[in-house]
Amino acid sequence: MPHQYDVLIIGAGAAGLLCAIEAAKRGRRVAVLEHADRIGKKILISGGGRCNFTNIHCQPQNFLSANPHFAKSALARYTPADFIALVEKHRIPYHEKTLGQLFCDRSATDITNMLEAECRAAHVRIILNAKVTAVSRDTQFTVCCDSAEYRTPALIVATGGLSIPKMGATCFGYDLARQFGLKIITPRPGLVPLVLNPADRKRYSDLAGVSTEIIAQAGGDSFREKMLFTHRGLSGPAILQISSYWHEGESIQIDLAPDRDATAAIREAGTRNQSAAEKSLQQFLPKRLAETWLRHNKPTNYTNPALAALEQKIHAWSLTPATTEGFEKAEVTVGGVDTDELSSKSMESRKVPRLFFIGEVVDVTGHLGGFNFQWAWASAAAAGRSL
Ligand SMILES: Cc1cc2nc3c(=O)[nH]c(=O)nc-3n(C[C@H](O)[C@H](O)[C@H](O)COP(=O)(O)OP(=O)(O)OC[C@H]3O[C@@H](n4cnc5c(N)ncnc54)[C@H](O)[C@@H]3O)c2cc1C
Repeated sequence: MPHQYDVLIIGAGAAGLLCAIEAAKRGRRVAVLEHADRIGKKILISGGGRCNFTNIHCQPQNFLSANPHFAKSALARYTPADFIALVEKHRIPYHEKTLGQLFCDRSATDITNMLEAECRAAHVRIILNAKVTAVSRDTQFTVCCDSAEYRTPALIVATGGLSIPKMGATCFGYDLARQFGLKIITPRPGLVPLVLNPADRKRYSDLAGVSTEIIAQAGGDSFREKMLFTHRGLSGPAILQISSYWHEGESIQIDLAPDRDATAAIREAGTRNQSAAEKSLQQFLPKRLAETWLRHNKPTNYTNPALAALEQKIHAWSLTPATTEGFEKAEVTVGGVDTDELSSKSMESRKVPRLFFIGEVVDVTGHLGGFNFQWAWASAAAAGRSL
């Protein structure tokens, strides 16, 4: 006999667990099916183990989506303050690190323990080691796992994105959406280091470990934060942020000297030469970076027009990365279930009544800094409160 529930949720990650709590608090009999042997594995590794669980400056502008308006309603109805209230109810110590990012003082297990306790209090059934392999629909949904079958009138898909396949990421949510005729915006890695093309890798890989503050720009968006050279390319917060906007074949622009007249000291030097140029760049760049960069971007001479060209290049250094480090290193997936297919109020499919998609599986992707969890909580609450 199949097990019957009012609400079945596939995926015990951030979105699935919060949705379960909200639905169960409204008196629904809720079960969560999770193929891993524990809940919230991504929460546990997030924020370097301290979980950057929200951002107090969260705005719709902090999200990418084919429809930038879609997330507004859910974000307005479940705000960072709502999640902070839950964290404070459980007396979890936390702090603001930088730019509104809230982290646990102790460890991310505080967040998974909190979600588990809330599930227990609301009588949510969490079923681990339950990999959902097939779903069908007649008057209700039938959900098949390896060893059991479930029936429900309301099915919530909270299977997350494709990043970090080692942690249990699957394409099941996208396959299910396609099975029911929903469109998918092609998923690609986001918040991911960039790999330089072979020529640039040869020039700059010796700089691995060097970091500096820059403005990175791509596709009309820009981020002012740190950039880090790696053995294969570029990383650091500014690069991770811009990677979500970058498409293969495009170039990125890097301002190596934000707000500075970078060549002023060369123009004013008694002798204008390579050594004066290096000294000038070292005023705002680490020594090794200044030397290496100048070696590969030497001005033709030190006349005023040549220095003007150098100034311009320092503020708009154009690179065409070969690729990204892929889903293995990506923090999120950009793309997913097309928001045109979903109600922005409840995350319910417009085509298939009582089928919902929440969290990262949806084509809404946050910037770095706690925004992806805020989307998981907000979309989960929107669905959970509508059940
Ligand atoms: C290294 C790293 C650090 C991060 N740090 C932060 C951070 O500090 N702040 C932030 O805001 N965001 C962070 N993120 C992003 C954030 O973790 C995700 O956006 C968020 O977890 C998405 O929540 P979700 O519930 O949609 O998906 P997930 O948390 O991925 O949960 C999906 C669940 O579904 C399960 N599942 C998948 N397929 C099946 C199936 N067929 N059957 C049963 N179960 C299935 C998975 O095992 C998983 O438990 C980080 C991501 C990574 C990879």
